[in-house]
Amino acid sequence: MSQSNEGLRHHCGVVGIYASEEQNIPEQLFYGLFSLQHRGQESAGIAYRNKDELVAYKSLGMVSQVLGRYLSENRASTIGIGHVRYSTHGGNKLENAQPILVSCNKGDIALAHNGNISNTQTIKDRLEAEGSIFQSTSDSELMLHLIARSRKATFPEALKEILPELEGAYSMVMIFNNTLVALRDPYGFRPLYIGTREGMTVVASETCALDILQVRDYRSVKPGELILVDENGMRSEIVMRSPRTAQCVFELIYFARPDSYVFDESVHLMRKRMGAALASIERTACDIVVPIPDSGNSAALGYAEASGVPLEQGLTRNHYAGRSFIMPTNAQRELVVRMKLHPVRSVIEGKRIVLIDDSLVRGTTSRTLVKLIKEAGAKEVHLRLTSPELKWPCYFGIDIPTRSELISNTMSPDQIAEFIGADSVVFLPIDKLAECVGKPESYCFACFSGRYPIQVPSGEKET
Ligand code: SF4
Repeated sequence: MSQSNEGLRHHCGVVGIYASEEQNIPEQLFYGLFSLQHRGQESAGIAYRNKDELVAYKSLGMVSQVLGRYLSENRASTIGIGHVRYSTHGGNKLENAQPILVSCNKGDIALAHNGNISNTQTIKDRLEAEGSIFQSTSDSELMLHLIARSRKATFPEALKEILPELEGAYSMVMIFNNTLVALRDPYGFRPLYIGTREGMTVVASETCALDILQVRDYRSVKPGELILVDENGMRSEIVMRSPRTAQCVFELIYFARPDSYVFDESVHLMRKRMGAALASIERTACDIVVPIPDSGNSAALGYAEASGVPLEQGLTRNHYAGRSFIMPTNAQRELVVRMKLHPVRSVIEGKRIVLIDDSLVRGTTSRTLVKLIKEAGAKEVHLRLTSPELKWPCYFGIDIPTRSELISNTMSPDQIAEFIGADSVVFLPIDKLAECVGKPESYCFACFSGRYPIQVPSGEKET
């Protein structure tokens, strides 16, 4: 992921495993979640069956900090799920960490989910008026309340009954007694993959988590598909249908790892295509193409190949710099950017640079970065973005700042160039992005266009 892009955060990544024979499931979950760390860095957790009971462990922190102890112990099990999270509206609180574990009238249930139920408040207000008490602000707890209150006798029936009430984005994994459950909302906003290897079934947000577990035989869970895996094998059913799909195009632009497949697309190749598309819309006289690592890497390669301008690693990323933190002064903010990204003077000095990044949120970090690059001797810096102008919030699982904070709502590309000290700024237009992804009708572009694929409840909507 681009380290310049501090404004966007994913909510979560999930993993689920079912094994026909006992093995160290917590250890396997660790590896899967470690691969999904980029999808959430504030809390990590697992739930698994330990003999006769479901147990969970979760805490604030990175996967290696929270779950590292599971690498040194053998906890034989057949089923488990895991979750990494970035907290948003609920704040960075432990009670919002997942998986959530309950024992209710339907059985023992553990749930971990990626996405955002956009009508949460409406449902919650109703349930609270009817006497429900919530311990967290998470959508997952809301779902468990609905399941427990369902009059249907069994868990699968209860689940199917409550799903039409939920609006928004959810790709989730659950344990119900000894069954692994995988589910994707009918619009397919968030990716979810399932695969098998030697009696083990793995479900994960991205294929990089399946790769690390050496699961090569996988497929995308279909929008609206419910999958149950237990000792009787795998059963699949399309339980919800929608008039269209609305896969999040930002997964391809920025969120997913380049070695992953999401929505049946190679993220690396898709980003190369976006870079090539940028090169095709304008030709800037320049000497080198420089990516902002990491999410700019693939696109910069595509731009360089299409334009014939050499690619150079003009910025070094410090992989040991942790999450960004808010610093009160400009000097401190600049230091944070320097800690993460640093220009390679020998590459940059005297050059006209096309700088490739994925998106522009507030513009403040880019401003610092352009300053550092110019101080390192660059003659010109032309910023090129593989996303269109970001103008609208997301209600489907991505934390985007308010409209007034998004720089593209207050400035034109030329004004942005002046503000950040660049010589020019060009965004990939929506129609070009649509050409890159192929079937634009199956994607969501709402944060660029303001045209939401489903109605956002008026109480939730920012205008
Ligand atoms: S609004 Fe943007 S970030 Fe949200 S699902 Fe749609 S494309 Fe993705």
